[in-house]
Amino acid sequence: MASSRSEGSSASSRCTSASPIPYRVGLLEYEPAVVCRYSNKAARWISWIPDNPGCRYFKCVNARSGCCDYFAWVDGPSNSFVREVLNDLRDEVWKLRREKGDFSAAVEEGRCAQSELVLARNELATSRKVVGEKEAVVGVLKDRNSRLKFPWCSMRIDPGVLAFLDGAGPADVFFFAGS
Ligand SMILES: [Zn+2]
Repeated sequence: MASSRSEGSSASSRCTSASPIPYRVGLLEYEPAVVCRYSNKAARWISWIPDNPGCRYFKCVNARSGCCDYFAWVDGPSNSFVREVLNDLRDEVWKLRREKGDFSAAVEEGRCAQSELVLARNELATSRKVVGEKEAVVGVLKDRNSRLKFPWCSMRIDPGVLAFLDGAGPADVFFFAGS
């Protein structure tokens, strides 16, 4: 094996992503049990560091707290070709995971932008409706205002009256709007 017993901790610190493959057996679900000197069942991990990719090892569950430094390899070293293949596959999996994460973030960002666009469009439609209603009111008020300024514009004169005025009627007859 190419590295020392410290491989387990260095594997977790050097790898920026989780195991590229799901574990077929849980860390503590293997049999027969392997125990440390304190009789604790050791967890069985898979190494993904470049020197020992895909190699299983035992490590005490209390290693993080520093209470126990039990460590032992399960598998022997693989040849250089297998190591290269496993490292390449590991890197591809990590790369695809990163790209998937970036893609998911972009999709989520796009969804948020779309939601904001829908809200903005709804607000715009509401505003246009309000403006339309206000413009209609303004139109009515303008019309009323023009009638108040020039009341005689809408006055209708009866043809009989016109005939009377055109004839021998009194010269001092006046008409007022609304009368
Ligand atoms: Zn232990």
